Amino acid sequence: MTVATLDDLLAERGGVRGRRVLVRADLNVPLRDGRVADDTRIQAALGTLRRLLAAGARVVLASHLGRPKGARKPELSLRPVAERLAALLGRPVAFSEACVGPAAEAAVAKLRDGELLLLENLRFHAEEEKNDPAFAKQLAALADLYVNDAFGTAHRAHASTAGVVPFVGRAVAGDLLREELEQLRVVREPERPLVCFLGGAKVSDKLAVLAALAPHTDVLAIGGAMAYTFLLAQGKPTGASRVEPERTEDAKRVLAAAREAGRELLLPVDHVVAERIEAGAEARVVKEIPPGWRGVDIGPESAARYAAAARRARTVFWNGPMGVFEIDAFAKGTETVARAIAESSARSVVGGGDSLAAVNKLGLGDRMGHLSTGGGASLEYVQGLALPGVVALEKR
Ligand code: ADP
Ligand code: MG
Repeated sequence: MTVATLDDLLAERGGVRGRRVLVRADLNVPLRDGRVADDTRIQAALGTLRRLLAAGARVVLASHLGRPKGARKPELSLRPVAERLAALLGRPVAFSEACVGPAAEAAVAKLRDGELLLLENLRFHAEEEKNDPAFAKQLAALADLYVNDAFGTAHRAHASTAGVVPFVGRAVAGDLLREELEQLRVVREPERPLVCFLGGAKVSDKLAVLAALAPHTDVLAIGGAMAYTFLLAQGKPTGASRVEPERTEDAKRVLAAAREAGRELLLPVDHVVAERIEAGAEARVVKEIPPGWRGVDIGPESAARYAAAARRARTVFWNGPMGVFEIDAFAKGTETVARAIAESSARSVVGGGDSLAAVNKLGLGDRMGHLSTGGGASLEYVQGLALPGVVALEKR
């Protein structure tokens, strides 16, 4: 690891006591009726925050929430996050409705050692996503030191993730970011065989990772709706399944890349099909998808093959459910693969919001090697791409 970390910062002479530390975290949590519906990401940020507070830092915490697109949207305020964070930390969390400027500076000036202030949603300012240098300077003016712990946003070059770095006295990776990079490196530099499971809704979402992994992965097993676009590319019937006909050429390229590199690419050989994607719909297992029917899960024979691949792997990466796991009748393929990964002696990394939801629903969270908190960032990292948030730290 070539970036300085929170450990380095805390070990330095003088430490962080009395220093203003800007922490960029990923507190982009789902809200329902103005309350935090799932606090997984807040929980993930606690480690770094607790260490800094215990060391007497004055913590200025910043994050984005949702996609306000540069406008102040009350329903995307971080205020409910401040409340949940206070409950989890067991101490007061101050909140500033301004994230930069005189009001924010005044709020920061009120902080005492070991206290924490959460700034309002950074993306209420269009300058954040534009990585505007003046905005980055304003953020930097709030602090002496900077800790990036927002792995989920590390693949974006935004003011708070990258732009701010040159303007602060010291810039390091927080515990979550460090841990994510260490765990995901296992997929980039795998002990072989490396077996990857890619699924989910759309080929177009994951084309880049498919293309990058196909030639390097010993076994690449494809499930979810994206499998049907691959079947379509092979001229096989897909019935009324969700397909992306405009992606069949891309799918063919992925198949060819795997073949030319001598890698195994697995597609489902049987399918759970239903007439409608809803609980209670009639479903059956078929080898070939009949007209009018939709593929909703990989079939039992496919699931058994995928599970066998997971068992003989030394390294596993999984992103994207194998079927419509939200409906129990269509969740068997996802469950079989998840259990096989949990039981495998391979080092495993699971990423993706829905994949994590599936793993947690099955109660297998503790049995996976690593659950990545950043879906998009983890996909970019395992492709071998540089993450701008990490590159900015490396340059320091
Ligand atoms: P992740 O969040 O783990 O990256 P995605 O967002 O790519 O995963 O995909 C998850 C979604 O894909 C789920 O809502 C699931 O219902 C859907 N999905 C999986 N298989 C199918 C299918 N055969 N048909 C339609 N949707 C599917
Ligand atoms: Mg998703």
